[in-house]
Amino acid sequence: MEKTRQASSASSVVVIGAGIVGLCVAHELRKAGYQVSIIDPEEPGSQCSFGNAGAISAGSVAPLAMPGIMKSAAGMLFDVDSPLHVPWHYWLRAAPWLRRFVASATPQRVEQIASALQDLFAGALEHHQALAREIGCPKRVVQTGQLHLYRDTAALAKDAGSWRLRERHGVRIEQLDARGVRALEPAVSDVYRAGVFMPEQGAVTEPFLYAGAIAHAVRRQGVQFIRDSVRRVRRMPSSSPGGTWQVEGAQSSLQAEQLVIAAGIWSADLLRTLGLRVPLESQRGYHLHVTDPGVSISRPLVLADRKVFMVPMETGLRISGTVEFGGLSMPPSERRSELLGAAGREGLPGLRLDAASAWMGHRPCLPDSLPVLGPVPGHPGLWCAFGHGHLGVTGSINTARWIAQGMRGQFDMARFAPFSIARF
Ligand SMILES: Cc1cc2nc3c(=O)[nH]c(=O)nc-3n(C[C@H](O)[C@H](O)[C@H](O)COP(=O)(O)OP(=O)(O)OC[C@H]3O[C@@H](n4cnc5c(N)ncnc54)[C@H](O)[C@@H]3O)c2cc1C
Repeated sequence: MEKTRQASSASSVVVIGAGIVGLCVAHELRKAGYQVSIIDPEEPGSQCSFGNAGAISAGSVAPLAMPGIMKSAAGMLFDVDSPLHVPWHYWLRAAPWLRRFVASATPQRVEQIASALQDLFAGALEHHQALAREIGCPKRVVQTGQLHLYRDTAALAKDAGSWRLRERHGVRIEQLDARGVRALEPAVSDVYRAGVFMPEQGAVTEPFLYAGAIAHAVRRQGVQFIRDSVRRVRRMPSSSPGGTWQVEGAQSSLQAEQLVIAAGIWSADLLRTLGLRVPLESQRGYHLHVTDPGVSISRPLVLADRKVFMVPMETGLRISGTVEFGGLSMPPSERRSELLGAAGREGLPGLRLDAASAWMGHRPCLPDSLPVLGPVPGHPGLWCAFGHGHLGVTGSINTARWIAQGMRGQFDMARFAPFSIARF
């Protein structure tokens, strides 16, 4: 039976999606005094926010499409075992998105994107640490630094443009030789003889547990959770100036003054019900998680050649990465998991994978590596908070702060411009 819930005050907000982004948004809005409801058919944090690597990488300001992308990615695209794969049957679907992706790789555009990401990620680690303290799990966000590993200095030199870009945008990096790598992480294979250490980066010690802790805290603070899938959203005329947003679920109906779309990869479908289109594409990523890995590391390690993260977590060791196109319905590929395992063993000899659990999730990606954030022109009271791609844990915290401040009229709205839906 359909339940209709009426917003109780002019400051009511519905957040669609209880992933890391929606949860952080709900938390900031509640703190700012709004009546918040969050609607999701699934358990909070159980989709893309469940199985990520948990790295808080404020220094990752380089977009995925860098100048020269055609040359570096062309070989990978046709190799089924490369870190980036588009199955042949998906080429036609992916082509328009890939065209935009390549078009965003001009030097000038890359600088603009890096500046926007620098703004969005500023203080991400400190803000996540503050949130973790506030919700009673201070040890769940840690500053460990992040170590990127290369086979040799020649391999590192191929990424020089991306490291220079980060340095230009204020990111602290330290170049390491083989001894330096081993001094930081003795378990790393001697195949990797060069490294770049980013001391200011950090990590969440278990992404699903962190999301669960935020959900628990906001529930206690009075945020209402509704377990339902939204089918349609529309604006209804009402006595309040901007009208009222009507959120129609499979079993419920909600009304609120403001609406935030934070439904990850599924956000595009919801916006389509309003006639709005965004080029959101899933970059399917995988993890293998081992509770008893037999080796120990102290911080997120990135195997630069394999684009694989290896991250120590409170529940074990997680090996994650790879980018696979293929949309939402294609089943997960066992081969992708095997490749992760092989990369992990090469990076950390002695790694035990016998009881590894495998997972695949949908990174919500826009072709210019920027999420869609902020108010939607022509739709008063409608806000976007999706498309964080590879960096949703990192970007969630300032997304939430910006939106809460923006709703209260306490934010320089020009900072939303690079992220606006209007760019499409
Ligand atoms: C392998 C891998 C490794 C990663 N590593 C990192 C990392 O180290 N650091 C980092 O910063 N990021 C990382 N990411 C990216 C990060 O996980 C994502 O960007 C982030 O989880 C996206 O969060 P979200 O809240 O937007 O989406 P989600 O977590 O997917 O949440 C969206 C929610 O919306 C709900 N929803 C969907 N449709 C509806 C509907 N119709 N009605 C109501 N609710 C709906 C869903 O059920 C879901 O709960 C990684 C991703 C992957 C796949």
